[in-house]
Amino acid sequence: MGAVVITGGASGIGRASARAVAAQGRGVALWDLDGDRAAAEAAAIAEEFGVAAHGHQIDVTDAAAFDAAIDASRQVVGPIGGLVHAAGVVRADGLGQLDADAWDAVLDVNLRAFPLLTQALLPELRSVSGAAVVGISSIEGWIGNGAIPAYCASKAGLLGAVRSMAAQLGPEGVRVNAVCPGYIETPMLADALEVPGLREEFSNSSVLGRVGQPEEIGAPVAFLLSDAASFITGASIVVDGGTTAVD
Ligand code: NAD
Repeated sequence: MGAVVITGGASGIGRASARAVAAQGRGVALWDLDGDRAAAEAAAIAEEFGVAAHGHQIDVTDAAAFDAAIDASRQVVGPIGGLVHAAGVVRADGLGQLDADAWDAVLDVNLRAFPLLTQALLPELRSVSGAAVVGISSIEGWIGNGAIPAYCASKAGLLGAVRSMAAQLGPEGVRVNAVCPGYIETPMLADALEVPGLREEFSNSSVLGRVGQPEEIGAPVAFLLSDAASFITGASIVVDGGTTAVD
């Protein structure tokens, strides 16, 4: 099934996805703005799981850098049969503070990079049987949060891109899906969790009464990339401890 490229692989959900994929015996290439952390995480994964692992510094908004990153990754991990797009950013700019460049900065990372990177990886994905791609959306691709319109748009847009790419690539046997996490304890959420009352609010929004851990997203991501999910494509799986089941 080949190795898996994981954007945002140095931290949080990307890191946990890389570890879950490596636990299945697959090689991983961790792509991240933070090249040092990506390299350190890759080294730790190689040692712990005994798989080929590569850390690569990249800005995923720079599509011109994709081919070199793919070449460098393939040299270490071999043929690439999977992608997880977990690189993401959030900005609290509601109406009244919207700025065109800030809007584009969020959309370019969270959304635009995903189809462009899938496109760049197509020769690899086509060369490996059982290839699959997963985009990390959010429950905020389904529900509105007034403070972060660009983020909500990027995550809803990703679901549309997933359905479109699944339609195009299905006949070739390449599956495309999304995972929509709820509130997960990662560095992205760390500041919010320090705001008095917010951890309780996030926890109480879940019928399980807590925020999620990155590993609880990594596991369904690894499942969607595996042959166990061989008839799942064009889908999105909500992994939110029940938050959107009751709100
Ligand atoms: P995180 O901040 O821990 O990790 C994000 C990683 O993406 C970082 O390592 C960062 O360096 C990298 N990154 C950011 N911009 C990049 C760029 N331009 N090029 C390359 N790498 C870049 O955050 P996380 O919570 O693990 O988020 C991972 C994904 O999960 C994001 O798409 C986020 O929107 C989504 N998500 C998170 C939550 C949550 O509660 N934490 C909920 C729903 C969805």
